[in-house]
Amino acid sequence: MKVLKFGGTSVGSAQRMKEVAKLINDGERKIVVLSAMSGTTNALVEISDYLYKKNPEGANEIINRLEMKYKQHVDELYSTAEYRQKGLEHVLAHFNYIRSFTKDLFTLFEEKVILAQGELISTGMVNLYLQECGVNSLLLPALDFMRTDKNGEPDLAYIKEKLNTCLEQHPGADIYITQGFICRNAYGEVDNLQRGGSDYTASLVGAAIGASEIQIWTDIDGMHNNDPRVVDKTSPVRQLHFEEAAELAYFGAKILHPTCIQPAKYANIPVRLLNTMDPTAPGTWICNETEKGRIKAVAAKDNITAIKIKSSRMLLAYGFLRKVFEIFESYQTAIDMICTSEVGVSVTVDNVKYLNEIVDDLKKYGTVTVDRDMCIVCVVGDLDWENVGFEARALDAMHDIPVRMISYGGSNYNISFLIRESDKKRALQSLSDTLFNSRGQYKSEGNS
Ligand code: ADP
Ligand code: ASP
Ligand code: MG
Repeated sequence: MKVLKFGGTSVGSAQRMKEVAKLINDGERKIVVLSAMSGTTNALVEISDYLYKKNPEGANEIINRLEMKYKQHVDELYSTAEYRQKGLEHVLAHFNYIRSFTKDLFTLFEEKVILAQGELISTGMVNLYLQECGVNSLLLPALDFMRTDKNGEPDLAYIKEKLNTCLEQHPGADIYITQGFICRNAYGEVDNLQRGGSDYTASLVGAAIGASEIQIWTDIDGMHNNDPRVVDKTSPVRQLHFEEAAELAYFGAKILHPTCIQPAKYANIPVRLLNTMDPTAPGTWICNETEKGRIKAVAAKDNITAIKIKSSRMLLAYGFLRKVFEIFESYQTAIDMICTSEVGVSVTVDNVKYLNEIVDDLKKYGTVTVDRDMCIVCVVGDLDWENVGFEARALDAMHDIPVRMISYGGSNYNISFLIRESDKKRALQSLSDTLFNSRGQYKSEGNS
């Protein structure tokens, strides 16, 4: 059975929901994971922010506005009075529930419940629409099987058991609809898999049922070889290794949430990125295979801070890096890039919540320098060290751009540069021209 996930952009209007219904109703049994309609989760976050600030009037204004929009969606989506009524009742019940939180104490717990309403509303609407069309669909409540453990990580054994039991209890349906993003935590409370987490749901559901394929449907034709918002002449990449896709997703290619790679990779289930605006386009195929001798794509991640620790004590010393890393660990701050020399080490972070504390602690070990507003540019492809000329080609593209750090050899799939954010557009365009647009896609002789 396949698992298909449709993002907020793909269910963003009544018309788009109808198109999704057409796409999924092809006679094949499947599980469909849906996000909230685009903009809804952001609105729910805004409502929560008002409630945290004890401003129920502000919250109610957004609730009313959002409810109006949903009433229109219901009007457009259903064609019979019976289903319009059912749709309206469904939507109003959720809005009344959201309103009930404007009256009491507001905590993280209530916020999680509010954030869950977007997916609960969209899945209910689509399921009703499918039924109006005579499709044999069934709603599988994600809160019945999606669960995280005490470390906040998805509990795949639990998910597997519960989801398969749910499916066994309802063997007759053709299309199972479930909510992306939402789950329960280890204590049974409503929680979520972080923003953009519907992709993660799809991958976990796929792994749990041993799906034949996981499809992520969005509003663009697959993963592009560069950021289409920044660079001219980008084109979709047709095939990626899981690790190439993970690097690209982590380093800025927003089309796929980086957490979604791991469950699919371990279960060896291919992921296909597809475009709801152009359903017959081939999209991007992600699996455990590498296309030899190819540089595939470039992505960039902003808001990076570089920290350099220079110390003569590092010379011939062991344990120095451990001490440095322990400081980052004690402030729960993840390091992205690392470069070392015999007299110093540079690392990058994107979370600067504890930057001052980290810098103060690091000063015990040497002179510390901080560079802000930096950007990681990540070039992905078959960058096995024995392939001659690939890294040189990427470096060549950066010849007139000041490069603060270079990281190569950490995996077989990536070379990363740390540059100033203000140089990002120039760097991405130059990489695009050098790697993909000069002589067609760059392919090194003798390595294919
Ligand atoms: P969905 O609702 O389908 O999950 P998201 O809003 O989560 O969609 O993210 C996908 C959007 O990100 C697409 O609309 C796409 O245009 C945009 N996008 C951002 N960065 C990139 C990138 N580097 N490559 C392709 N698409 C990108
Ligand atoms: N609706 C959630 C969000 O906007 C989850 C998702 O779309 O993936 O973050
Ligand atoms: Mg998304």
